[in-house]
Amino acid sequence: MRIETLRNEIAACGLDGMLVTDPLNRRYLCGFTGSTATLLVTAERAMIAIDFRYFERADRESPDWEQVRVQTTHQQAVADMVHEAGVRCLGIESDHLTLAQHADLRQALEDVELAPVKGLFLPMRAIKDATEVAILRRAVACADAAFAYLCTVIRPGMTERQVAWELESHMRTHGATATSFPLIVGSGPNGALPHAGFTDRAIQAGEPIVMDFGALIDGYCSDITRTICLGNADERYEEIWRLVLEAQQAVETQLRPGMTGKEADAIARDLFAARGYGEQFGHGLGHGVGLAIHETPFMSRLADEVIIEEGMVVTVEPGLYLPGWGGVRIEDIVLIGAEGVEVLTRSPKEPVLNM
Ligand code: ZN
Ligand code: ZN
Repeated sequence: MRIETLRNEIAACGLDGMLVTDPLNRRYLCGFTGSTATLLVTAERAMIAIDFRYFERADRESPDWEQVRVQTTHQQAVADMVHEAGVRCLGIESDHLTLAQHADLRQALEDVELAPVKGLFLPMRAIKDATEVAILRRAVACADAAFAYLCTVIRPGMTERQVAWELESHMRTHGATATSFPLIVGSGPNGALPHAGFTDRAIQAGEPIVMDFGALIDGYCSDITRTICLGNADERYEEIWRLVLEAQQAVETQLRPGMTGKEADAIARDLFAARGYGEQFGHGLGHGVGLAIHETPFMSRLADEVIIEEGMVVTVEPGLYLPGWGGVRIEDIVLIGAEGVEVLTRSPKEPVLNM
C-alpha cells in the first residue's frame, strides 16, 4: 500500500527509481528498524542494501524486500543495486542526504542522473492508518500514566531535573523505548522559555510548572504538556491558566478537516488577542506527530497553504509566556475525524495540584 503510493509518486516525478536513505522514511516504507540501510524502489522492484549486522533483522522485519548484501562498502552495494535495477534517473532525498554523501553517490553512479526530491514522504506520513493510530494511542497512554504517577510524588523543593527524571523513568519502565524528545520542566520564570529544557532549580509552591514530555513506542512519538502549581496559586496564574485552557478547548471543539493550519491557529490566537494577550503566544498552535516528534502538518500563522485532513494526528498546544514570571502551556494530541477531533490525551487538566 505505502509502496504503491510511492511508486505512483515516482512515476509522477518522471523518475525510474527512488533511493530512500532517511531512517524514518525507510522504517515507514519497509518496517526496518536498524541504523544502516538504503532502499531502492522502482516500478517492479523493492530492494534493501544492508550489511552483516542486519541480515537476520531484515529477514524478519522486511521479508518482502530483496536483500542486497554489502560485500565491501555500503556505497558500493548501493551503486551495484542501482545498476542491477537498470535505473537511469534516480530520485534522492535532498532533505536528508549530506553534501558529502551526495558527492560519494555522484562518483559511484557517474552514468546515472541524480534527481533531488524534497519532502516526498511527508504527505503520506501525515495521514495515519489504523495501525499507526493504535501505536500512537499507546504512546499517548504511556505519557498519561507518567503524569498520573508524577502527581503523586511531586513536591516543592524537588529540582526540575528530578521531576524530569521521575517522568522519564516512569515512561521507560512502562513500555517506552526512550523519550520522544528531551523533556522540558520549566518552573517559575524558566517556564517563560517555551523550550526550556530543565535545570537544577528547585520548584516552589505558588509558581507555574510547565512540563512537556512524551514517550517513544514502536517508533512513534507522543507529546503532552501540562502546567500545574503546587498550591498557593495567585490570581494572575488562575486567569492565564483558564484562558489557555479556554483557547485549547475552543480549538478542540472547532477543528475540522478542510481548515487551513492558519485558520486553526487563529482560533486560539484571536481569543488571546481579544483578551489582551496577543503578544504572549509566540509559537504555532501545533504540529503533526508520528514517527517524528514534529512533522507535517504544522498549524501556525504562516500555514495558510496547509490543509487539515481526516486521519491526521496533531498536537493542540496554545501557551502564554510572561518573561520574568513564567508560562502556561496545555498540550493534547488529537486525531482528526470526518466531523471533528478525537482527543487522545487523557491526562486531567487542573491548574492547582492539591497535595
Ligand atoms: Zn510538547
Ligand atoms: Zn508539541
